[in-house]
Amino acid sequence: MSQAHQTPYTDLNLLPIAGAWREGSAESTLLVSDPYSGQTLLQIKQADRQDLDEAYQAAEQAQVAWAATGPAQRAAIFQRAVQIFDERREEIIDWIIRESGSTRIKAQIEWGAARGITQESASFPARVHGRILPSNVPGKENRVYREPLGVVGVISPWNFPFHLTQRSVAPALALGNAVVIKPASDTPVTGGLLTARIFEEAGVPPGVISVLVGAGAQIGDAFVEHSVPKFISFTGSTPVGANIGRLASGGKHLKHVALELGGNSPFVVLADADLEQAVSAAVMGKFLHQGQICMAINRIIVEDALYERFVERYAERVKALKVGDPSDAATVVGPIINRKQLDSLLGKISRAKEEGARVVVEGEANGQLLPPHVFADVTADMEIAREEIFGPLVGIQRARDEAHALELANDSEFGLSSAVFTRDLERGTRFARRIKAGMTHVNDIPVNDEAHAPFGGEKNSGLGRFNGEWAIEEFTTDHWISVQMTPRAYPF
Ligand code: NAD
Repeated sequence: MSQAHQTPYTDLNLLPIAGAWREGSAESTLLVSDPYSGQTLLQIKQADRQDLDEAYQAAEQAQVAWAATGPAQRAAIFQRAVQIFDERREEIIDWIIRESGSTRIKAQIEWGAARGITQESASFPARVHGRILPSNVPGKENRVYREPLGVVGVISPWNFPFHLTQRSVAPALALGNAVVIKPASDTPVTGGLLTARIFEEAGVPPGVISVLVGAGAQIGDAFVEHSVPKFISFTGSTPVGANIGRLASGGKHLKHVALELGGNSPFVVLADADLEQAVSAAVMGKFLHQGQICMAINRIIVEDALYERFVERYAERVKALKVGDPSDAATVVGPIINRKQLDSLLGKISRAKEEGARVVVEGEANGQLLPPHVFADVTADMEIAREEIFGPLVGIQRARDEAHALELANDSEFGLSSAVFTRDLERGTRFARRIKAGMTHVNDIPVNDEAHAPFGGEKNSGLGRFNGEWAIEEFTTDHWISVQMTPRAYPF
């Protein structure tokens, strides 16, 4: 590993807009705070619509020269970016912990995932291929050129801000696009400003990346509807994503969209599963980042014969989890991102009780810390089964048999990730193939992301796939050029 970097980034209150680091022009100031201590980390003057227009115009101009750089030159910039990730590892992890209330283990995982997609993207400039196709017309050659889309608008959420921004920005840039990023208001540093600093240090020219910190409700529609971006890559909740899909397809300027939205991952434990392994997976897959992950386990479904033993063992393990300061390496459950999210989780807890779910593990909220809650005897009609939870609570449902477990697993409007535990791998694979989701993991947690494997959802969990060759497809477009090499005979 490389030597640690001696000088941390400074002036993180400034935004890169149209090639210069400056304050946003809006009247409003955003206070960025640590969800655990409540301490203010930064004050950022936000961007307004004029800034947005300047960022997009500059990106459009800068993209042309950027796309013309050779694959080796772009790959070298990405390799340098990976080196910066290594040199600044502690600085990046520290920001992820402080700005998004992530535990150390989650921040390390996030740093690793973002580094992974950066490294994978270093190979993209040399992996974009055009094609030559035969033609039915005598003397004609059909050529298919694979081109960058142009300017890509990236909107990211607060839960894995550093990785989820990088997951769009790295492939977009590597494939010759320019980007304008709108991070979530809870995480402007890890959701965009650090990304821009790293790529600038690695050698990406000014104007190719801009970051607009501003409320989604204020600049969100204009960000999507602007004439310059040809692609909006959105990661966030299903209602906001559905609105973005409508704006991108129904406004004055049609554009491509990728929508990576909410989830409601089922975690199925069949009767022949290794109980201890399934319990361990259900602890990690639910409580990593306090359950604030799109792929997090939302419903645990256990086949009848193992049900009582699973509930008992799971409760024991969950009660032992350390709740507290996320910077303490032993902490598993850190703070909820903000008060609004905490209130929504407290509402879900009281409604689960009202609806008759059996409380197996509970605890009192303290500040923004919410201890784990586990409910047993949950039924498919209860709110905690139907809705995405996004917090450290979970319900366990009893399945009569394998067919019932599958029925329960598929009983959701969402279809992002999922998991099934069984000692019979072929049975697990057969079961997995019948789950309606973009991703299913046999004998593992639903929370998985590998830079070369297709990431994405079905149903109301979204449209499109990230990572590897799927990202190459997503962040480029085809241009069919036919060349008539001999004069063509026309009928009139
Ligand atoms: P959110 O939808 O509230 O916000 C996401 C982003 O959209 C933020 O940057 C926000 O500022 C912006 N935004 C809000 N209103 C907007 C508007 N009108 N126009 C344009 N942008 C707007 O989501 P969140 O609370 O930040 O994140 C949690 C959600 O994200 C969960 O539902 C989770 O499942 C989902 N998520 C999905 C994935 C995935 O890969 N599928 C990954 C992480 C999170």
